[in-house]
Amino acid sequence: MKNPLKEVAVGLGSLFTGMRLTIAQFFKKDVTVQYPHQSLQMPARFRGHIELVLDHETGKAACIACKMCEKACPSECIVVDGVKPEGKGKKILTEYTLDFTRCSLCAACVEACKSEALVFSREYNLAGRNKEDFQMDLLRRLEAKSKTEAYHAAAPAAEPEAAAPAAPADPATPEAAAPAAETKAAEAQQ
Ligand code: SF4
Ligand code: SF4
Repeated sequence: MKNPLKEVAVGLGSLFTGMRLTIAQFFKKDVTVQYPHQSLQMPARFRGHIELVLDHETGKAACIACKMCEKACPSECIVVDGVKPEGKGKKILTEYTLDFTRCSLCAACVEACKSEALVFSREYNLAGRNKEDFQMDLLRRLEAKSKTEAYHAAAPAAEPEAAAPAAPADPATPEAAAPAAETKAAEAQQ
C-alpha cells in the first residue's frame, strides 16, 4: 500500500526542484535571438562563403587575378579573370565568380591566396529558391559592399546640420519685399 505522506513529500520535492530551476533561469542572460530582426554574430572561425577582401587604399579588390585559388579549388567552383593594362605591372580583376552549390568550404582557395585577398565571410543567412541564387558574382558583391561602406563613412560628414527654422519674413525688409515685387510685376504682365 502506498504511503500518502511519502507521495506528498515526493511531489513537493519535485515541485521545489522545478521552481528552483525556473527561478535560476529567470535571472540568466537571454539567449533568444529575435530573428530576423536580430542576427547572430558569428565567431571568427566561422566559414560562410568565400569573399574578396577590399583594398581600402584603392577602394578595389585586393585580388591580383593570379588564379592560384582557382587552381587550388578541388571542386572547380571558382572562375577568375583579369586584364593587365598597358604599362602596369599588376592585373586588374574583371571577373570572380563562385558556384557555392559545389563549394565544400575546404579553405584550399583561401590558403592558396598569397595576397591575403580571399577570406571566409560570416554570412549565415543565405537562402534561395533555386540553385542560380548561389552562383555568386563576388566582384559585384565587393563593389556593392565598398559603395555601402563609402556611403556610411561619408554620411556623418555630408549630413547637413539641422537647419534652424526660418524666421518669418519681415515684409518691411528689402529681401522680403523683392520677391513680392517680382510677383506683382509678373501679375501685371499677365
Ligand atoms: S572553400 Fe574549397 S571548395 Fe570552396 S571555393 Fe574554396 S577551394 Fe573551392
Ligand atoms: S589567389 Fe588570391 S590574388 Fe590570386 S586570384 Fe585568387 S583571390 Fe585573387
